[in-house]
Amino acid sequence: MGGVLAGAMLGHAGRDVLLLEAMDYLGGCSGTFERSGHFYNAGATTFVGLGPALPLGYLSRILGVSLPVKSIDPSLRVHLPDRSFRLFRDRTQLMDELTAAFPDDDHQGLWRRIFRVSDAAWTKILSLPPFPPKSLSEVLSFLRPGASLLMRGGPDLLRSASSVMARHVKTTPYQNFLDQILLITNQAPSEEVPFLSGALGLSYPTLDNYTVLGGMGAALEAFAQKIPWVYRKTLVRKIERAGGFFRLQTTRGTYEAQRVILNRDVWGVADLLDDPALARLQNKRKARFRQRWGAVTLHFRIRDFFPENFELHHQIHHEPNPWTKSRSFFLSLSDPKDDRLSAEGFRSVTLSTHTFLSLWEGLSREIYLERKEQVTRFILENLTRHLPLFRQAEREEILTGTPRTFARYTRRTGGTVGGIPLRREIFPLGYPSSFSPLPHLYLVGDSTFPGQGWPGVAVGAIGLVRRLEPGLL
Ligand SMILES: Cc1cc2nc3c(=O)[nH]c(=O)nc-3n(C[C@H](O)[C@H](O)[C@H](O)COP(=O)(O)OP(=O)(O)OC[C@H]3O[C@@H](n4cnc5c(N)ncnc54)[C@H](O)[C@@H]3O)c2cc1C
Repeated sequence: MGGVLAGAMLGHAGRDVLLLEAMDYLGGCSGTFERSGHFYNAGATTFVGLGPALPLGYLSRILGVSLPVKSIDPSLRVHLPDRSFRLFRDRTQLMDELTAAFPDDDHQGLWRRIFRVSDAAWTKILSLPPFPPKSLSEVLSFLRPGASLLMRGGPDLLRSASSVMARHVKTTPYQNFLDQILLITNQAPSEEVPFLSGALGLSYPTLDNYTVLGGMGAALEAFAQKIPWVYRKTLVRKIERAGGFFRLQTTRGTYEAQRVILNRDVWGVADLLDDPALARLQNKRKARFRQRWGAVTLHFRIRDFFPENFELHHQIHHEPNPWTKSRSFFLSLSDPKDDRLSAEGFRSVTLSTHTFLSLWEGLSREIYLERKEQVTRFILENLTRHLPLFRQAEREEILTGTPRTFARYTRRTGGTVGGIPLRREIFPLGYPSSFSPLPHLYLVGDSTFPGQGWPGVAVGAIGLVRRLEPGLL
C-alpha cells in the first residue's frame, strides 16, 4: 500500500518510478490473491474516507484515479454472545442502535466527545507536515492543527482513552465492544491508547465506508496505473550503495536508482542493505517496539444464499481463543455484484483475528499443522453459532493463514502485521518516521508514522512525498 501510493504520487509528477513487487499481485496485506481460479482479499477488506479532506479522497482526486468502490452503510454488524447491532454513518441512527443494544450506557455523552475530537482530527490530517517536522515552518504547521485539536479535546487528548470513556461507559459488554474496535483500528485496547487516536479509531466505522469491487487489490491496481514501471514477481534480494546511486539486485536483474523507498516494516529494514547505521536503528526499534501482533486468517468461498440486506462486514465476539488469545474475529463477504470475487454463485470470505506471535513460533511441522486445524475449528464453531447460515451453506476448501503465512507471502518480519500499536508512550511523537540514517533511503508502510490501514499508510506516504518534492502536493 505504502509503495504503491508513494509511487503513484511521484509517477503522476513525472518522476521515473520503478515499483518492484515480489508477488504476482500488488498490495501485500491489502492485496487480493488468486488460488485455484478464485480470488480472496488477503487481509484488509474495509475502505474508508473518500471525502475531499480525507487521505484517499484527496489522493484519488489529485491523481485523477477512479476507484472501483461501492458505498456501504451500515459499515459493520457486531455480534456479542447475547445481542447483535449495526454501526451506521448517520449519527442519530448510530445512537438509536447503540442505545437499543446497550440501554445502560451514556452514548450521547461518549460519542459527543469522540466526534468532537475525531471530526477535527480527520479534517486536519492532510495539513500535517512531513513527520518529524524539520524546519520552523514545519513545526508551526504541526502546531496549528495541534492547537485546534487541543481546543476541542483539551488534556483528554493524551489521557488514556479508557479514562475518558469511563465517564460514560457503564457496562462491561459495551466496554468490550469498544475495546475490540480499538484493537482493529489502534492495535491496542482503550487503557493503552491516547484518546486522540482512540477517537479516530472509534469513529472509523462511522465515516463513509466502501467495498472495493474486484477486491482490495483493485484499488491498488488503480493507483498503480500512475506508476510508469511496475514489475511484479520481482524480488529485491540486496541493495548496495554505489557512488551516488543505489544498486538493487533482483530476481529479474540489477537496477540503479537515485532514491529508494522501502515498503518494509521497521523491524526488517536492514535485512536488504548491509549498513551499520541501519543495523543499529533496526536493533533499537526491535528493542523499543517489542509489542506487535500477528494475524490468523481464514479464506473460503461460500454458496451465495444470503438475504439481500446481509451486511458485508461482521465482528464476532467470543470467549478467548486458546490458539490466538483473541476475543473476536472480523468477517468480510465480497459484494454479491462483484464479478471477480463473487463468481459462479459463490461469495469470497476473508476472516481475520489477532494472535500473539509467540504462539506460532518454534513449532514442529506436526504441531503447527495441528494448531492450524484447532484454530480453524474454534473459529468456525463460533462463526456458525452466531451466524447459522454459514453452517447450512455449501462451503469450499478453507485456507488458514498464520504469522508464518504472512511472513512467506508479504515478507513481514516474523509475520508481524498491523503496524505498531498506537500506545500512549509511543503515539504520536515516538512513532518511527519515514526517514532512515542513509540519505535518499526512505520507508513507507504501516510501521511508519502515523500507522496502519488505508488512512494511516496514505498519510505517511503523502508526508514523505511532500518532503521529497516540496510544492508537488
Ligand atoms: C488481517 C488484516 C486485516 C486488515 N484489515 C484492514 C482493513 O480492513 N482496512 C484497512 O485499511 N487496513 C487493514 N489492515 C491493515 C492494512 O492491510 C495494512 O496496514 C497495509 O496493507 C500495510 O501496507 P504496507 O504498505 O505496510 O505494506 P505490506 O502489506 O507490508 O506489503 C509490503 C509489500 O512489499 C512486498 N515486498 C516485501 N519485501 C520485498 C522484496 N524484498 N522485494 C519485492 N517486494 C517485496 C511484499 O510482497 C508486499 O506486497 C489489515 C491488515 C491485516 C493483516
